[in-house]
Amino acid sequence: MTTETLSFGADVSRLLDIVAHALYSNRDVFLRELVSNAADACDRLRYESITKPYLSVDDPALKIRIYRDPPSRVLTVVDNGIGMDREELIKNLGTIAWSGTAAVMEQLGQSASAQDKLSLIGQFGVGFYASFMVSTKVQVVSRKAGEDQAWVWESDGKTGFTVREASADESRQLIASRGTAINMTIDDNSSEYLLEEKLRQVIVQYSDHIDVPIYQGRGDGTDADNGAAQIPVNKASALWMRPKNDINEEQYIEFYHHIGHGMDKPMMTSHWRAEGKIEFTALLFVPTLRPWDLYDPSRKNATRLYVKRVFITDQCDGLMYPWLRFMRGVIDTEDLPLNISREMLQHNPVIQKIRTSVAKRILGDFDKLAQDNPVQYGAFWGQFGAVLKEGLYDAPEHRLDLLKVVHFYSTETDGGLVSLADYANRMKPGQEYIYYISGENIDNLRNSPQIEGFKARGIEVLLFTDTIDDFWLQSVLDYEGKAFKSVTKGDVNLSKFSSADKNDLQGDKSHEPAQNESLRRLLAIVQETLKEDIGEVRYSHRLTSSPACLVAADNEVDLRMERVLRVHQKYDTPSKRVLEINPDHALIKQMATLAQAGGTGEEMADAAHLLLDQARIIQGEPIPDPTDFARRLSYFMEKSLAA
Ligand code: ADP
Repeated sequence: MTTETLSFGADVSRLLDIVAHALYSNRDVFLRELVSNAADACDRLRYESITKPYLSVDDPALKIRIYRDPPSRVLTVVDNGIGMDREELIKNLGTIAWSGTAAVMEQLGQSASAQDKLSLIGQFGVGFYASFMVSTKVQVVSRKAGEDQAWVWESDGKTGFTVREASADESRQLIASRGTAINMTIDDNSSEYLLEEKLRQVIVQYSDHIDVPIYQGRGDGTDADNGAAQIPVNKASALWMRPKNDINEEQYIEFYHHIGHGMDKPMMTSHWRAEGKIEFTALLFVPTLRPWDLYDPSRKNATRLYVKRVFITDQCDGLMYPWLRFMRGVIDTEDLPLNISREMLQHNPVIQKIRTSVAKRILGDFDKLAQDNPVQYGAFWGQFGAVLKEGLYDAPEHRLDLLKVVHFYSTETDGGLVSLADYANRMKPGQEYIYYISGENIDNLRNSPQIEGFKARGIEVLLFTDTIDDFWLQSVLDYEGKAFKSVTKGDVNLSKFSSADKNDLQGDKSHEPAQNESLRRLLAIVQETLKEDIGEVRYSHRLTSSPACLVAADNEVDLRMERVLRVHQKYDTPSKRVLEINPDHALIKQMATLAQAGGTGEEMADAAHLLLDQARIIQGEPIPDPTDFARRLSYFMEKSLAA
């Protein structure tokens, strides 16, 4: 019999190191992870047996056994699920299959505290490797359902592992002709896991929702544990099929951990039975923390599909909308045949109807959460709001419900979120539009010159900071008949709204350029000086305290959208922006006086360029010629300091 020695993949070595050092305080989870894997293996066999009944015919009763042998310090978890062949042992237990693992490992390596590591790792679970938290050696004996040969995988969890054929004696450890036994040699610090009571307590705590019976003891009378009595430690029924009143919060949380492999708590739990044209039961959770691979395009759909209690797949693309991809949980329907092929699922009309019905219900639950618990909803929104907004253009059929639950930052709050209904209620008499400004940074947005005039009039402006905002705005044109309007695009006329700002003299005709010769002259000079850089220069209706700002012309895309498109190289024609200048600002008045006096020289041109450059800086955009900018600035500083 040959024994092959192999090394762990690089990611596994790093994960093992972290498991050994960072997860120490919560060692009980190793058992949860192993039971979770064993239950998954049973689920997979149950599914395979639908088309290949011979796979489980010799022992159709799926089960998990947990037993101990204190003299040899070995703790065993054994299942009669699908099992693994030699290649699967090497691949599944020697490498990490998650895409994007490298990126996560990178983050794990960099995060300073053990707590950070724990919470990050908690998002994707440590799985099988958690067994090394409590053992000096782990031996896995496994035989894949339908195969003759059993295999042994062994490791001390340091650098690598060995694989060899199992002896007849070793194979006998398996229940029936298939499945997996995990034998852990418990280390000196973890002796409690060799105590019957401790094991029972951990199993009850972590496994009550597992729908496969878990027995404590070998069940063959060769050990003293209760398992010999053949009474499962857990209820062994599908949690989602139990009445809600029979399920406590702990059980929901543990079930969430089992299916999500996470360590956080669910922020929201929705459990209901849909009856009518399509019948299904759903138990869905919103995680507290954003899954680490939320934006990974190859991310698997995390919702599990069951048909009549049989697990079918957790990779059914059409089951949940992509904008609900952060949800975890189970959907179980009676309306599909058990032997449906996984490939056909996505376009199945039943799946599509379930998806629609689930989305409606979940959006209703979000709305309720927002009403009942705004603080929690704010936390939810911070994690998943940007994803949910994808639905605004992705799913027009749910747009109205989505518009009810989208929240935004706003000039009217100090950091809190507002809904569109809040906004609509606060609109001024005669206000036609929902005004917004879009940019990367909330603080910069709050200080944007473009919103000065709005603030002065108490007109609320929504602050959009997610890149996605610029995209859904292309397809969602209004909310209850009120169009969305960017404050950085086109001309605005706010003169019909009264202003609390005494500096804001909009509407006072003496400030209209047409009424004022010096302002007219200034405009002509600035326009001429900047004609290469700017499409138009005009006097502003939106500024109160800043001298100038940039806006997009009516027929151009909004300023932020232009930046986003440029980054994605979808936009290369130079757009001709509008520079708006504030006729009431002391600097502009000064320049107008100079213009009136015939000052058209270099100083005037420098001042015009500086006006434009400072508008660019405020906008967060680069200055095309920093050297020229510095020279001009130095010139004016020198002059003013000398005076
Ligand atoms: P995860 O369960 O998150 O995929 P694990 O590290 O726990 O990660 O396990 C890796 C893989 O090993 C599993 O996806 C599964 O394919 C396989 N595996 C683990 N335990 C068992 C088991 N008891 N029976 C069959 N396969 C198993």
